Amino acid sequence: MPSSDLTLRTAIVAAMRQLIALGLSQGTSGNISVRAGAGFLVTPSGIPAEDLTPEHIVPMDFAGHHAHALPPSSEWRFHRDILRARPEIGAVVHAHPTYATAFALCGREIPAVHYMIAAAGGPTIRCAPYASYGTEALSVAALAALEDRKACLLANHGMIAIGPDLARALWLALEVETLCRQYAIALQVGAPIVLDDAEIARTVERFKSYGPRPAEIAQDGDETGSPPAALGFDENPA
Ligand code: 13P
Ligand code: ZN
Repeated sequence: MPSSDLTLRTAIVAAMRQLIALGLSQGTSGNISVRAGAGFLVTPSGIPAEDLTPEHIVPMDFAGHHAHALPPSSEWRFHRDILRARPEIGAVVHAHPTYATAFALCGREIPAVHYMIAAAGGPTIRCAPYASYGTEALSVAALAALEDRKACLLANHGMIAIGPDLARALWLALEVETLCRQYAIALQVGAPIVLDDAEIARTVERFKSYGPRPAEIAQDGDETGSPPAALGFDENPA
């Protein structure tokens, strides 16, 4: 295995554990992929994060082929389709976090009730219509909901966050769940005020230089997409 591959695999295992530590995932739900060479690396299906090792991570090509002993995530199609359709994207994080999923259970998109929605690329976080997990139909629905966006909800299922690298996709996943938690509580407090599209468009522009930045990642992690220590990643999980 090339050493850059091992670095990426190790980062994926650390990120899967981070999803649990951050309260974004539990058990075997959720999966992660990272672009690597002419294809991508994706988590295997049905292995709890605490049992994952770098060797378990499945390399795939964009035709959907692999030669690994373990089956890839049941959601490899949407990971493949997002990475194939969006060359600026280097990592895809899928999870079932409680608040984001609660809105997804109601088929509700998230409006611009906080300026942080700009981190997801626009004035809404759309909710893709329901399709069975692991299907081509789910991939098609997810890709449409992600148009001009870096996050979406999946009806009756969960959420997807994407980014130029793993650190920023994971950062966005946590921001989306936090926004959904705040929105859920605000709906109980009163009538949340929605910011106008022009303000969100300006904030999207400002966010191009905000968040865990490539320079910091290059300094603190490495160019392969390994997450920065500032995000609390353990590069050498036990
Ligand atoms: P996998 O374990 O196959 O990745 O499935 C988890 C999941 O979240 C399916 O949507
Ligand atoms: Zn899922």
